[in-house]
Amino acid sequence: MTTPAIRYDLHTHSTASDGALSPAQLLARARHQQLQVLALTDHDTVTGVQQLQRQLQAEQATDITLISGTELTCLWQAKVIHIVGLGLDENSTLLQQYLYEVDQLRNQRAEKIALKLMKRNLPDLLDDARKMADGGVIGRPHFAAAMVARKLVKTEQQAFSHYLGSSKTGDVKMCWPDMEQAIKVIVRAGGVAVLAHPTKYRFTFTRIRALLSAFSAAGGKGLEVSYTGISPSHQLELIKLVHQYDLLASAGSDFHNPAHHWTEVGRFMPLKATAPHILDHLL
Ligand code: AMP
Ligand code: MN
Ligand code: MN
Ligand code: MN
Repeated sequence: MTTPAIRYDLHTHSTASDGALSPAQLLARARHQQLQVLALTDHDTVTGVQQLQRQLQAEQATDITLISGTELTCLWQAKVIHIVGLGLDENSTLLQQYLYEVDQLRNQRAEKIALKLMKRNLPDLLDDARKMADGGVIGRPHFAAAMVARKLVKTEQQAFSHYLGSSKTGDVKMCWPDMEQAIKVIVRAGGVAVLAHPTKYRFTFTRIRALLSAFSAAGGKGLEVSYTGISPSHQLELIKLVHQYDLLASAGSDFHNPAHHWTEVGRFMPLKATAPHILDHLL
């Protein structure tokens, strides 16, 4: 299957992590976009998924299938990468334990970020960032939102380019779980591990191939080949890698916020070449 006949999105965020819409609002938006399959893949949490599964069960919904997912922050060769888990059991105790530990790391990192920013003469933003996270998993975007609210920067983009982005003050290194651990917990929870947005790590294609060898050896099965911002030529390169490493193609918008006019739920470049699709495996 190249582009499935159904409308789907296998990578989205809600307020359970750094998205702007509540899980219910995201679901409503997906329905408005007439999606038939939606995966909620919040960073290092499944609380939004649990909420939506309950809602859909109460509604006895048949119009849309929710795929339980998460996007795990992990390390490969000391670099942070993201592994999406799809079709997992969101109530798995192993997964819950894993996510609890990552949440602790995220809270420790938030304290460090606040201290580091204070050394750059910014006010203490920890409480503001926590309020922005509103009980969800805390991340750098919540600091970015806090900076905008305090008029320290004009946009969240600016907060990243000055303070929070790769190798800036607020990009605090943490001992996240290894990629192998992330893949293992997804598999043990009954899910499929997918390498998220491979061209967003500033790796060469040679390095992406090395990553895919390790990913595949560890039990990884899927590769995102379409997402917001990918070029057509890179997508074709990635589809070649799907065949070469015997993987399944996945795709999603990585939608976070309706104010980001460059993204929409269910919108990403159609697949430009044939590849085995992960939806065939999930549905
Ligand atoms: P964290 O999970 O706390 O490490 O934050 C990573 C998240 O920050 C990503 O999932 C994006 O949502 C967002 N992000 C990362 N880099 C940028 C950037 N340069 N501009 C805007 N948002 C970004
Ligand atoms: Mn994010
Ligand atoms: Mn990501
Ligand atoms: Mn994402």
